[in-house]
Amino acid sequence: MTTTSTQIRLISRPVGEPADSDFEIVESELPELGDGDVLLRTVYLSLDPYMRGRMSDAKSYAAPVELGQVMVGGTVCEVIESRSPKRPVGTYVLAYTGWQTHAVVAGRHTRRLDPDSAPISTALGVLGMPGFTAYAGLLQIGRPAEGETVVVAAAAGPVGSAVGQIARVKGARTVGIAGGPDKCRLLTDEFGFDIALDHRSATFTDDLAAATPDGVDVYFENVGGPVGEAVVRRMNTYGRIPVCGLVAQYNATEPPVGAIAGPALMNRILINSLTVRGFIQDEFLADHHADFLADMTGWVADGTVRYREDVVDGLEHAVDAFRGLLSGRNVGKLLVRVG
Ligand code: NDP
Repeated sequence: MTTTSTQIRLISRPVGEPADSDFEIVESELPELGDGDVLLRTVYLSLDPYMRGRMSDAKSYAAPVELGQVMVGGTVCEVIESRSPKRPVGTYVLAYTGWQTHAVVAGRHTRRLDPDSAPISTALGVLGMPGFTAYAGLLQIGRPAEGETVVVAAAAGPVGSAVGQIARVKGARTVGIAGGPDKCRLLTDEFGFDIALDHRSATFTDDLAAATPDGVDVYFENVGGPVGEAVVRRMNTYGRIPVCGLVAQYNATEPPVGAIAGPALMNRILINSLTVRGFIQDEFLADHHADFLADMTGWVADGTVRYREDVVDGLEHAVDAFRGLLSGRNVGKLLVRVG
């Protein structure tokens, strides 16, 4: 059977915000299946901030997407043709097939999903990479203790909302930062943050000081920029900062500037005995993924951890949806329903 895939390919490296003209949509013929291969139909494509880094050829922890190649990304797919006994037709799998409608991959490069245990979309969000990022970064680096104050920004997103809720499980006091009153309401009403702060408010810095009268013990850094700087100024002695992401800076065309830069930041780390540790979630997979799945599946099932998804219909809207992710248009885990 010959199958074509509709693909979104990167054709130029964005400068600043990605433009439609940085991508092309093409129809591509897929290869015949070899032994052990499966033909996948994409159901959901995950859009994640790290993809902005893959569009750039600046030095990073992972190789860039080559020009002319399909944009990378995590997907939930249905097996529609199979030469892999372990992945029969009709199976749902987690794969990494990128921004396209169909793909042929080795069955062993997919993870089988059980649609009866959780909605399949959650494998890309709360029970997937973003949820694991929150779990591993917070518990291995942030290590919140009972009664401590944990602050996280991008708190309505899949990483931040999970950070807040896991911190609450550990008995911490949680302060979530998000853009706008609607997201702030979500933080307290849905995700159980003790306090929600709007980083777009003119009084944000004062609000942060009022919300953290005893300082900040753990700042889970998702955004960088002025928000990150404001929270770093509130850190307590022996505070921990898991540096997870700097989404405020991903579209920047100039190096970041700020009052706490270089030597001044080092001084603050020294005088407050801070632990500042960057991480990429996959370094923790081998040791902590099984615990994550067990804990998080239980917390989601009993309502301890809640999640939101923001589903955009149609692969053709992926580029615009991705722009919205970097500017805060999404509310919850951003997914494209491809088919
Ligand atoms: P989100 O769905 O939360 O989307 C990003 C959010 O960032 C936006 O919705 C917006 O929310 C917020 N934001 C954008 N610009 C700014 C700004 N200038 N100041 C403050 N907030 C801003 O994303 P994820 O939950 O998927 O990811 C969160 C972070 O975690 C990202 O930095 C990502 O790169 C990182 N990450 C890191 C991993 C790792 O292994 N280290 C793995 C996975 C994610 P709002 O409207 O609230 O401002």
